[in-house]
Amino acid sequence: MPLFDFSKDERANIRGIRKRVLKMILEASKDSIPNEFGALLRAKKGVIDELILLPGTESGERSALFKLYMLPIDYTIVGTVHSHPSGVCYPSGADLEFFQKYGWIHIIVCSPFSKNSWACFDIAGEPRDLEVVD
Ligand code: ZN
Repeated sequence: MPLFDFSKDERANIRGIRKRVLKMILEASKDSIPNEFGALLRAKKGVIDELILLPGTESGERSALFKLYMLPIDYTIVGTVHSHPSGVCYPSGADLEFFQKYGWIHIIVCSPFSKNSWACFDIAGEPRDLEVVD
């Protein structure tokens, strides 16, 4: 059972991400090497425009990056982002399990963290489009 049914909310219809937010994600991910970086995504009017850093989010390879009990239920938070320093830009088994439990849209950024080193997924782990907007 999902913790919260985001599908009932119109803000689940996310079409884009601000270029500066994506840049921030890629830079933070690069800085976190060899650990993973993770954050929550906040959107306004269908566009992801803010990163929410969770205190106590463990970064580390193979660690459960997000602790479900710490995640806020907040309509403006639409999903998550985390990095794969390994360079593999698709969800792991643990990621897929997590995607179904929290949020609506999930970004994975991967090494070398250049501007095309990312992918976006829906709750089923299927790739989906996300426009980069100014
Ligand atoms: Zn992952």
